[in-house]
Amino acid sequence: MQDQTNRAERKYKFDTPIYHHTLYRDSLILSSISKWNNLQNHIRNISKIDTFKYMLKREYLEPQKPLYHYGNRLPQMPHTRIRLKFSNLNFHLFNYNLVTSPNCVHCTLPEIPNHYFFICTHYTAERNEMLQKIERIFQANRITNKITLEMILHGSKKLSYILNSQIFNAIHTFIRK
Ligand SMILES: [Zn+2]
Repeated sequence: MQDQTNRAERKYKFDTPIYHHTLYRDSLILSSISKWNNLQNHIRNISKIDTFKYMLKREYLEPQKPLYHYGNRLPQMPHTRIRLKFSNLNFHLFNYNLVTSPNCVHCTLPEIPNHYFFICTHYTAERNEMLQKIERIFQANRITNKITLEMILHGSKKLSYILNSQIFNAIHTFIRK
């Protein structure tokens, strides 16, 4: 089992040639190999070049927005992955040929982010709790925003970092459940 894991881990990686001089070690090809091997597995294993470039850009080159790193890592990761269209939602998994259907297992509608955050009846109780928390934040600050998918995924440009992080807290609680 361990051996299989190691093999899967090594798949698509290059062996680093043995080198004797710092100059050689720092040469372009070696640094490229090392960069390639250090990519996250899910990116290194993408076979379509366009998808690969897109994910590389999204993951490594996009300017870092502090709000995207807000919160506990556990719910922050799935939140980020939904934003990057690379989540465990069936619609995203289907796009990467990882499941046979893009539909939600609870209600056979496409499991897109909007379905998960606003529609799926399987999460009604947890969703109501999240929406009430956000409404309370809005009321307390006399905000008349609507709760949209855009706001749930990216935060609102109209709101301060503090308010956005309070909203992200409510969203992360929903995702964790
Ligand atoms: Zn559903």
